[in-house]
Amino acid sequence: MESYESLGPVGEGSYGTVLKCRHRESGRLVAIKKFMDSDEDKTVKKIALREIKLLRQLRHDNLVNLLMVWKRRRRWYLVFEFVDRTLLEDLEQNPNGLDLNTCRQYMFQILRAATFCHQQNVIHRDIKPENILISQEGVVKLCDFGFARTIASPSEVYTDYVATRWYRAPELLVGDIKYGKPVDVWALGCLLIEVLTGQPLFPGDSDLDQIYHIVKCFGNLVTHHQELFYRNPIFSGVKLPESSSTVPLQQRFPSITQNALDVAQRCLDMDPEGRAQCSELLDHLFFTQDSFHIRNRKMDGRRRSE
Ligand code: ADP
Repeated sequence: MESYESLGPVGEGSYGTVLKCRHRESGRLVAIKKFMDSDEDKTVKKIALREIKLLRQLRHDNLVNLLMVWKRRRRWYLVFEFVDRTLLEDLEQNPNGLDLNTCRQYMFQILRAATFCHQQNVIHRDIKPENILISQEGVVKLCDFGFARTIASPSEVYTDYVATRWYRAPELLVGDIKYGKPVDVWALGCLLIEVLTGQPLFPGDSDLDQIYHIVKCFGNLVTHHQELFYRNPIFSGVKLPESSSTVPLQQRFPSITQNALDVAQRCLDMDPEGRAQCSELLDHLFFTQDSFHIRNRKMDGRRRSE
């Protein structure tokens, strides 16, 4: 840490702090994620080690680049390339959403990041505006792999999931312990609407309220999820939110273009099996019309060779 000068905190997570720092010799700007004492708290240790393992395995233009790792006085330090700002900051400055072209540019890159993770059998599990970094040149980088994990084998179950409610898929809300890549696709659908409108799509203030928001938009949960809800002790004695009348996306957001709405709808299928795959979405008309995707790919190539 002595070789870096701290320029102050840029983020505060549940498991540590992220500091903006300058390398004293080279002047390079980095973000150093300093975890809490990992010998005292086993969860911190697990999250830190998981993030290190996955980030070493995942190298892509649209994922935050891990430069160095060390452990000192029982704390893990992760050094990342410094990226200018988060998507959350952009949204805070644009309460009515970002313009359509910027939305396309950002979403295209986020989808590339998610496609790559899914190809490597990694689910991010916490896609949301705070975890999307944007460089000064408009390059988008997905960060925070503390909740990410590799896909379990069919007999394995996931037991340790606590990520952000507003972007949680129905299967996570009812407590399904067998889920997969479609949880990221759901989060991407919520995110797309949020970047287009500036407002979170389903801002639930409890897990039950979250289900209510979803049901109000898309109608009742699929039968399997209804059964899981009634078997889940957390919801014991609670009636599942049902909706007699829905307010579909199109009605709620009449100004969103048909192509954008279609991408969102393909992400936000109540049935995880019915959701699109990230790789398919990259070829959607929303991205391919007016050769946008080709221009964007070329841009990536140029950046790499610079
Ligand atoms: P946590 O897991 O503790 O939430 P994150 O990895 O999500 O940590 O980072 C928390 C915040 O720190 C992010 O929302 C962002 O504001 C900032 N941050 C993280 N990584 C970087 C980076 N490489 N460059 C600039 N800021 C970053």
